[in-house]
Amino acid sequence: MSNIPEIFASDVFNLKTMKERLPKETYKALLKTINNGEHLTPDVANVVANAMKDWAVEKGATHFTHWFQPMTGITAEKHDSFISPTKDGEVIMEFSGKELIKGEPDASSFPSGGLRATFEARGYTAWDPTSFAFIKDGTLCIPTAFCSYSGEALDKKTPLLRSMEAINKSALKILGLFGSTAKRVTSTVGPEQEYFLIDREMYSKRKDLIYTGRTLYGAPSPKGQELEDHYFGTIKTRVAAYMKDLDESLWKLGIYAKTKHNEVAPSQHELAPVFSTTNIATDHNQLTMELMKRTARKHGFKCLLHEKPFAGINGSGKHNNWSLSTDTGVNLLDPGKTPYENAQFLLFLAATVKAVNDYQDILRASVASAGNDHRLGANEAPPAIISIFLGDELTDIINSIVNGTHYNGKDMAEMEIGVDVLPNFPKDTTDRNRTSPFAFTGNKFEFRMPGSRLSVAGPNTVLNTIVAEVLDQFYEELKDAPDFQDALDTLIKKTFSENMNIIFNGDGYSADWPVEAEKRGLLNLKSTPEAIPCYVLPKNIEVFEKHGVYTETELHSRVEILLEEYCKVINIEALTMIDMAKKDILPAVSTYVKELAKTAKLAKECGAEASFETELVKKLSSLSSDMYAKLGALEEINLAAHDITDMQELSTYYHDKVFTAMQELRCVADQIETLVGEKYWPYPTYGALLFYT
Ligand code: ADP
Ligand code: MG
Repeated sequence: MSNIPEIFASDVFNLKTMKERLPKETYKALLKTINNGEHLTPDVANVVANAMKDWAVEKGATHFTHWFQPMTGITAEKHDSFISPTKDGEVIMEFSGKELIKGEPDASSFPSGGLRATFEARGYTAWDPTSFAFIKDGTLCIPTAFCSYSGEALDKKTPLLRSMEAINKSALKILGLFGSTAKRVTSTVGPEQEYFLIDREMYSKRKDLIYTGRTLYGAPSPKGQELEDHYFGTIKTRVAAYMKDLDESLWKLGIYAKTKHNEVAPSQHELAPVFSTTNIATDHNQLTMELMKRTARKHGFKCLLHEKPFAGINGSGKHNNWSLSTDTGVNLLDPGKTPYENAQFLLFLAATVKAVNDYQDILRASVASAGNDHRLGANEAPPAIISIFLGDELTDIINSIVNGTHYNGKDMAEMEIGVDVLPNFPKDTTDRNRTSPFAFTGNKFEFRMPGSRLSVAGPNTVLNTIVAEVLDQFYEELKDAPDFQDALDTLIKKTFSENMNIIFNGDGYSADWPVEAEKRGLLNLKSTPEAIPCYVLPKNIEVFEKHGVYTETELHSRVEILLEEYCKVINIEALTMIDMAKKDILPAVSTYVKELAKTAKLAKECGAEASFETELVKKLSSLSSDMYAKLGALEEINLAAHDITDMQELSTYYHDKVFTAMQELRCVADQIETLVGEKYWPYPTYGALLFYT
């Protein structure tokens, strides 16, 4: 392989390339736009566009696209070539500043939740210069935000950028009280991406995987993940070749792919990048998912990003590591070594704890989807209840603050905030609990609820906004205090005292926890139809509007889009199950039963008992009758959904009725699978899918 530093970001129009390619004045003007959001004049835009085009053409690009992130949760692009006809019938390659800055895709088919009436189908895309342009497949991709003509956000990126502004403003005000000289605070994110790799040929034989990304039927294989031999295990040669190829493609796009390993479930893996600012992390994660899929094709694999492709073994998540950092290089969630740093740390920690407690509902809603419902609140991975893990040491310190008692930590002196030094928290003492949905891991929080397929834009938009809100509340309490130190002590003590209910260091998977959580007044929003409407509770509309992140209209549109998407997903799954049962499974059972019956008849004619064949014929006939009945029930229940028009009611119906009927059908089918000869079964089994060589 080529030299990594040499190929790294070779397909990105980053600061280094800009500096090389742009006239000094243009570069300076562009930097101002990137760093301070200053407006770009048309002259400057033209120069930048031209330089970008020359660079891209040299690298073999022929087209450009405004690359955006509509509410579908994936990315969208429409390619235009650089060619422009000349009078003499030739072409030249052109790209103007106007084309760079603004695009007008006909976007009538993207979900808008009623925001964009069809007669005003056009949306527009606007360049986000804080995320660099890059070349993908011969196309210059320009990261953009996507809005309606009246300015409403039609995408996931715009609210994220707005929330970054909100947290910047609020955090700077607080830092000002501590005498900080920081000029900018950004939220940082490192998303750990889990995925499954399966053989493409096996994949192409399963309609459920093709249509829905997950297996809708499938009996467990004799071996699952119980031996824990896959986690961090040796990587198969074929998978290693895939990972190497993927890393190289990611590096070329300037993505800091850093860690790769096998995960808990068979055929499950993880890739983690070095963290970056939230919007870049979001763009890079989208590209990572796209490249994971594309690279898989080259290696004869299919990459599954579904949150729960297989029942009975782990699903895939995307751990969202989140923190705040200043332009002066300070991580605000790093405890630091001096009393001054400690007090500031405790204040930001308190703000995050209070924000997560006050706005549990929207944080939960931000990760809700039909696919993630199989993880959250199901019998694995973080429960649907949001709680915070701080680790024993930090919890002891907080307890001593709350109770005003002496803290006898290892290297710890008396606990009076801002006067004494906190002990160092070695990272590993804080990260023992893998069952917590929101864990403090030494110098950042790790939000473990997001599903593998989710854009990280949503949860980070919420995190940034709610922490900004609490920081503003803190600012109001502190700004005119006659004695800052005293006010700070009181505020930190009060905040932790009032929010101890959400701090839980125990086993989040234990059966006792939901009972205990209810006593503590924590929410347990088990499904998407329960969680999504929280976006439009009055207190949540208020916080989003106050910080300029979502308007009330935008929030209503999101609720509409997300619930509708939920209904569509369940409907597709139900229809796929029906199709598979009718066209493949039941006919396969019939064929097998016929073979058995024929054999039994012949055997009996020879005077043999044929008890195996006879018994199995009876058993399978009875099970297939049951399956046929459950299939009929599912069809009827799914059809009746068409009569419901209210979206909230409809999504609840899909959850309570359709999904339940699907599970019942699956239960019988999976039982039948264990009894039917493998060569009769129409689909590759879990064993074949998960344990390929
Ligand atoms: P783990 O034990 O969870 O694997 P790692 O140290 O590997 O922990 O970190 C996981 C992720 O957290 C990585 O993507 C890393 O870049 C990210 N991360 C580390 N520090 C920060 C930070 N200050 N802000 C956001 N993400 C961070
Ligand atoms: Mg982690």
